Amino acid sequence: MNTELIKKIQSCPNLPSLPSIAVQILDLAAKPNVDIAEIARLISKDPALSTKILRTVNSSFYGRSQAVSTVSHSLVILGLQSVKTLVLGFSLVTTLHKDKSRGFNHLNYWRRSIYAATAARTIATKMNLVQQEEAFLGALLQDIGMLVLDTVLGPQYGDICAKSPTHPELIKAEKESLGMTHAEIGALLAKQWKLPPILVTTIGGSHDDSTVTDPTLKKIAQLVHLAGLCADVFVDASPANALAQVRAHCLSAFKLAEPECDKLLEEISVKTKDVVSLFEINIGAAANFEAILEKANEALVQLTLQSQMQANKLQEQNEVLQKKATIDALTGLNNRAAFDDILKQHFTASKTGKTPLTLLMLDVDKFKAINDKFGHQVGDQVLTELGKLLKKFGRPKDAAARYGGEELALILPETPRAVGANIAEALRQSIAKQPIMCGKLPVPTTVCVGVATLELNSRMTDPSHLLKAADLAVYAAKRAGRNCVKIFSLAAAA
Ligand code: GH3
Ligand code: MG
Ligand code: MG
Repeated sequence: MNTELIKKIQSCPNLPSLPSIAVQILDLAAKPNVDIAEIARLISKDPALSTKILRTVNSSFYGRSQAVSTVSHSLVILGLQSVKTLVLGFSLVTTLHKDKSRGFNHLNYWRRSIYAATAARTIATKMNLVQQEEAFLGALLQDIGMLVLDTVLGPQYGDICAKSPTHPELIKAEKESLGMTHAEIGALLAKQWKLPPILVTTIGGSHDDSTVTDPTLKKIAQLVHLAGLCADVFVDASPANALAQVRAHCLSAFKLAEPECDKLLEEISVKTKDVVSLFEINIGAAANFEAILEKANEALVQLTLQSQMQANKLQEQNEVLQKKATIDALTGLNNRAAFDDILKQHFTASKTGKTPLTLLMLDVDKFKAINDKFGHQVGDQVLTELGKLLKKFGRPKDAAARYGGEELALILPETPRAVGANIAEALRQSIAKQPIMCGKLPVPTTVCVGVATLELNSRMTDPSHLLKAADLAVYAAKRAGRNCVKIFSLAAAA
């Protein structure tokens, strides 16, 4: 809350005031023994107001077959509540509409208000809401705070409005520059005017009905909020966003699917023409709903396509990142992190499935000497070629990895020790039998391979035990003179 702004508003001498006829009617209606005849007399004293009420009662809005020709008859047919609300609406609009000030687009203001009011009444009828007139008036007055801000701040508010082409943007700009929105200010004014609490609440919650906590007012607050969004469909230069919002709110708050929602908007479009003629105010050319729907739907398809494309791109980027996180850049083999994961998975599967798991650890012999003799780049190439060979030796279910430096690994699921040992020996021989070709440069290379197997009833309880065993076997191979395969066995280790 911006207390300074509120003070400024409260001390502003030319703030819109509640018309005296409205004050009198509200007073009379609040009395315990309401005198309907006196209310009818009071309204009849104002010919313009009486005419508007009679035209409204006889309009398509009420769909009456019999013509109503007197105010007292209207009171009987519509009830005091409805007539009171109509008086409020008409007298307020007449008063407020006269007051045109500063840098603020009044045509747009009234356009939105009238569309919102029509929308509120149309939805209220569809939903069989008892407070149809209140919904109408709440929606009609929902932006009254804008008139207050225009009066109090003048060009400063004109600037805020000018840089906010849509209502949601206006609300954001108001929050940023004023720390308050016109809905809050409208509610303050309605309170000051002593309007019924239902109107104070619906005006205050017109942008965000989640602020309305009174359960008896929740539905009407949701409805007035939705009515404002419906109005935006007709008022916004680019209606796609508003249309998407209306469809979403219709579904979530009123369980209305898209075709019903679009039909509702069409109905609002038609009925607004009647309402405009009742209020005798200029809201510019009538909007063509067909054209709006077409334009908005096209834009929505574009937006959906765009967000779909963005989502695809994100997914691709994620996949690349994921790959980067698990693949060793030099050899294209699984990296250490992926190796740890895969080994863990197979270790668990082997324990539960009671199948053997064999691990080969491979360490290049005297690799440091290769680097020293041929250079680091050639060393890299040797590792890359060894990676390819390891992949070739692995069966589809096996996983080849670069454990680190010049140490590679091959995980052999469901593989007993003897089979693993054969694969290790074949691999060693295939490396040793001819130099690795780095371009045209032959690089004689040998490796040591350590073999360890997780067998049934093994005492190994963690993947690190299997890894340690394979490492020990590599160590044994180095001690045995290199270029050989060693198989870990508990007996040998003991
Ligand atoms: P041993 O037979 O006992 O395994 O001898 P070694 O020289 O292979 O063992 P040592 O662990 O002493 O040296 C390993 C060398 O591997 C040292 C390091 O510079 C080299 N190395 C580790 N990673 C890379 C790499 O990515 N590229 C290259 N070119 N060399 C690497
Ligand atoms: Mg080493
Ligand atoms: Mg080595």
